[in-house]
Amino acid sequence: MSKVKYYYDSESLSYRKIERKKRTTFKYALIFLLGSALFGFIFVFIASQYVESPKEKALKRELQNAQLQFEILNKKVDEAQAVLANVADRDNNIYRVYFEANPIPDEQRKAGFGGINRYKNLEGYDNSKLIIESNKRVDVLLKQIVVQSKSLDEIVSLAEEKEKLLVAIPAIQPVSNEELSRMASGYGVRSDPFTKVRKMHWGMDFSAPRGTPVYATGDGVVVRADAGATGYGKHIRIDHGYGYTSLYGHLYKYNVRRNQKVKRGDLIGFVGSTGRSQAPHLHYEIFKDKQRINPINFYYGSLTAEEYNKMLEHASLENQSLD
Ligand SMILES: [Zn+2]
Repeated sequence: MSKVKYYYDSESLSYRKIERKKRTTFKYALIFLLGSALFGFIFVFIASQYVESPKEKALKRELQNAQLQFEILNKKVDEAQAVLANVADRDNNIYRVYFEANPIPDEQRKAGFGGINRYKNLEGYDNSKLIIESNKRVDVLLKQIVVQSKSLDEIVSLAEEKEKLLVAIPAIQPVSNEELSRMASGYGVRSDPFTKVRKMHWGMDFSAPRGTPVYATGDGVVVRADAGATGYGKHIRIDHGYGYTSLYGHLYKYNVRRNQKVKRGDLIGFVGSTGRSQAPHLHYEIFKDKQRINPINFYYGSLTAEEYNKMLEHASLENQSLD
């Protein structure tokens, strides 16, 4: 029940009822409604700038979690890098040294990617820095892995080569000599058995009865099996590759021919006393790059440390060679 309003009419000197038209009432109501709606809209708009909606809250949490996971991944990349650095260190200081290869410089191992900006499409976002840094880390890690893998390939081929070298170069005694009693004279200055003059003896003499088997001391190819060289009598030369040649002199008989391939331990001939020789024995020489070197260092395949010392003692005695 709305209040009835009056006004004072000075002409009729009486109170008269205010008559309000229905249309006017409707107009006021509409203005009020529109005003409220506008105010409400503005209020919500302003409030939304400061107050988060539940959906925004969820997205924000999602983003924070993604950033956190990125940081955790970066830490894991760092750990992987540390492990790889350790492998690289061992590679440089053990494997590559063992196989006589130059170490790979750090700059080469850790080189990033120069030239064009690979990360341009990642720029311009709030998290660009985090994403670009992470990408760089992973790229450097990948590059390091590729460098390491190539290095290991190289080591594998060097190891195979080394294996071939190890079976090729002389490493055993040319005659069976378990007691080492056959070591007669070593490499160095010795008395000549014929002239008694002190002169260089370029090999090692193993005294043994005529017909004692002589063995190839490493894999190779027989390059000579003849008596054409002065003093050596019937002799054999084996080319082992890598610059190594072994020579077996004063033989009684051959068991191989020129150009024949031999393996370490193959029976190649028999001890004799042909050529410039005082008594049946094997004169054994090793050449490296055409220079004669001391064979004493080439028995590691068959001697213990103790036996080696004993042989060193025998070989260094300044006695008379058998030539
Ligand atoms: Zn000799």
